[in-house]
Amino acid sequence: QAKRAGRNTVCFFDPQMQAVASANAALAADLRLAWRHQQFELDYQPQVDVNGRMTGAEALLRWQHPQRGRVPPDQFIPTAEETTLILTIGRWVLDRACEQLAAWSRRSDRSHLSISVNVSARQFRHPEFVDEVMDAIARSGVAPNKLKLELTESLLADGFDITVNKMGSLKRMGVALSLDDFGKGYSSLAYLKRLPLDQLKIDREFVKDVLTDANDAAIARTIIGLAQSLHLQVVAEGVETEEQREFLAQHGCDGFQGYLFCRPMSIERLEEFIEANLVQLSPLKLS
Ligand code: C2E
Ligand code: MG
Ligand code: MG
Ligand code: MG
Repeated sequence: QAKRAGRNTVCFFDPQMQAVASANAALAADLRLAWRHQQFELDYQPQVDVNGRMTGAEALLRWQHPQRGRVPPDQFIPTAEETTLILTIGRWVLDRACEQLAAWSRRSDRSHLSISVNVSARQFRHPEFVDEVMDAIARSGVAPNKLKLELTESLLADGFDITVNKMGSLKRMGVALSLDDFGKGYSSLAYLKRLPLDQLKIDREFVKDVLTDANDAAIARTIIGLAQSLHLQVVAEGVETEEQREFLAQHGCDGFQGYLFCRPMSIERLEEFIEANLVQLSPLKLS
């Protein structure tokens, strides 16, 4: 029947669509419960510089579900974004990250570390977002430049000027701004130069086959070159092998994150790692 009705007609009784909708509704309800029962946790994944020294960590949200176990963020963040729960969770992530930064700031061997926080488009779009960041910083008393917000290109769908203004307010506060998953979205070089950014993150997609796929290698090199010409720091995510790190470093990448150095882990484990100096790898030998 749908075929006969024509291509532009929405078919309301598609059982598959209905199944998806009700699965989403169930997940949304589950997420609200999860929030009430404090089932969310933050893991941290270290970022290192070209010498293998830890410079900071990315906070990564986890859902510890009593039956389903650990649910990865890709499976629940899109649904959380469809509800206002992403705002609540996002605020919590921001507060936790700032508390952690405050704890690190009191220790001379940790006070240089930064924390990167992922911000969803819906959260960024919220009129109170800038104030919330300001409050989280004020409450914790951390140096704003230790907080790095990871934004994605999807923000630009909201309108360029609004986005740039908001980013400008955050920058004036001293917060660092990173463009996450760079290369994956609809990147336009014209807007990139007008965004008040500090960092570009090369998407894992291009890092994965950087040694075997000439196109990925070209893209990675181009992103690094672009970042350098715009005076932005450039970090590669998903670095799993020494060869990948070497390739990226040789082309001028200055930050690295991936299983090669450390998996995302609880703050307790990360503290042990830092204590034992396990994140640190031997300096790269660049000839
Ligand atoms: P992302 O921000 O691009 O984070 C990097 C993802 O790559 C993480 O997945 C991390 O665990 C994974 N990863 C790191 N190193 C490697 C590696 O060497 N190999 C491979 N294969 N993967 C690696 P994760 O933790 O599953 O998070 C997925 C996405 O969920 C994140 O992508 C981010 O977009 C989103 N996310 C995570 N936490 C939050 C949050 O607090 N708020 C919001 N809005 N989004 C979040
Ligand atoms: Mg990220
Ligand atoms: Mg990323
Ligand atoms: Mg990514």
